[in-house]
Parts: sequence; C-alpha cells; structure tokens
Amino acid sequence: MHPDVIALVALEGEDSAVESLESRLRALEPRLQELERSREVAATALERAKHTLTAEEEKLREARARAAQHRTLQDRNQRQLDGITNIREANAASAQLESARRMASDADAESARIAARVDEARARMQQAELAIAEIEGSQETERSAIAAERREIEEELRHARMKREGSAKRVTGSLLAKYDKVRRRRRGQSVFPLRGGACASCDTALPLQRRHEMARTGAIEMCEACGVLLYAAD
Ligand SMILES: [Zn+2]
Repeated sequence: MHPDVIALVALEGEDSAVESLESRLRALEPRLQELERSREVAATALERAKHTLTAEEEKLREARARAAQHRTLQDRNQRQLDGITNIREANAASAQLESARRMASDADAESARIAARVDEARARMQQAELAIAEIEGSQETERSAIAAERREIEEELRHARMKREGSAKRVTGSLLAKYDKVRRRRRGQSVFPLRGGACASCDTALPLQRRHEMARTGAIEMCEACGVLLYAAD
C-alpha cells in the first residue's frame, strides 16, 4: 500500500480509539447523575423533616404560652373569688374561674398533643439524617470506583491523543484537512478501501480507469456517492 494510505488508515484507527475513550468518559456522567439524584431525594426528605420539626416546635411554644396565660387568669379569678362575700358576685366569679380552668386545661391538652407531634417530627428528622448518612456511605464506594475509572480513561485518552497527533504528522497536510472534514461530517469511519471495484461503504462502483489510476498512484479520493475517502487496497 502507498505510504499515504497506510498513514491515513493508521490515523483513523487512532481517531476511533480517541472517540471510544471519549464516549466511555461521557458514559460515566449518567452514573454520577443517578447517584446525585438519589442523594437529593434523601436530602429533600431531610429538609422537609427539619421544616416540620421547626414548625411544630413553634406551635408548641405558642400553645404553652397560651396555657400559661390561662393559668395566670385562673389564679387571678381564684384570688377574686376568695375575696368575694356577695353570693351573686361569687356565682359569677366562680363561673369565670371555671371557664379559665377549662381553657387552661384545654390548652394543656393541646400542648401535650403538639408535644407528641414534636417528638414524632424529631424522630422522623433523625431517621432522615440516618437515611442520608447511609446513602452517602453506600455511594462512597461507587463514587470512588467512578473516579478511579475516570482517571484511568483520562490517562488512556492522553496517550491516545498523543498517538493521534503523531499519526497526523505522517499524513500530508491537504489530505489531513480533507480527512478531518469528512470525519467531522460523518462522525464515524471515513476511510474505506475499494472492494471489488466499488466503494466499501456504499457499494457504488468506480470506473475501471479511475480504479487503475488509484492503484497505480496510491491516490486517495472521495466517493462521489457517499463522500467517504477511498483507497485502492492491494
Ligand atoms: Zn461510497
């Protein structure tokens, strides 16, 4: 084979190697994204649990303040009642006292209900914290495996690119430019041999005269039908 052909075929081989490494590198992304997604689900659950706990704690503070107010009122009513001698006033004060006592006891019951919800919310938040710690722990192995794989591929890619540059230097300038253009357009194999007198990519036959010329000179020509670069194989 003509040295130009040998150099071009070698270059295409290097390009394929580079591309396949690049695609392996890209394939790591969805794996990382998947890990991130499941971590985010757990993080969102934790945020929600924290929010609920804060809200319930706030309600508990309010309910306890209400209960304290009602008890203060109850004490005052009790003192009033103690100082009253008139039976009619005593009845009224007694009713007031009873009402304050009932409100205080309702507020206590309400506080107790909310306190139970606070405990629940705190337990849920602790569970959510455990869950995210567990996820992060279990992801550590996978993440470091991905990182190791990435480093390995990047290293291979660095070598493959260096080799590619070396091969490119052995292809003449105008042919290299033509090849790069075809390969960018096709995003795949762009150099094909003639097979049985036809383009091995699209099977369009070449005129006999042209085939002979290519075989004699080692010229590399573009297939007029599909646009790949053709060479005459031995
Ligand atoms: Zn063709």
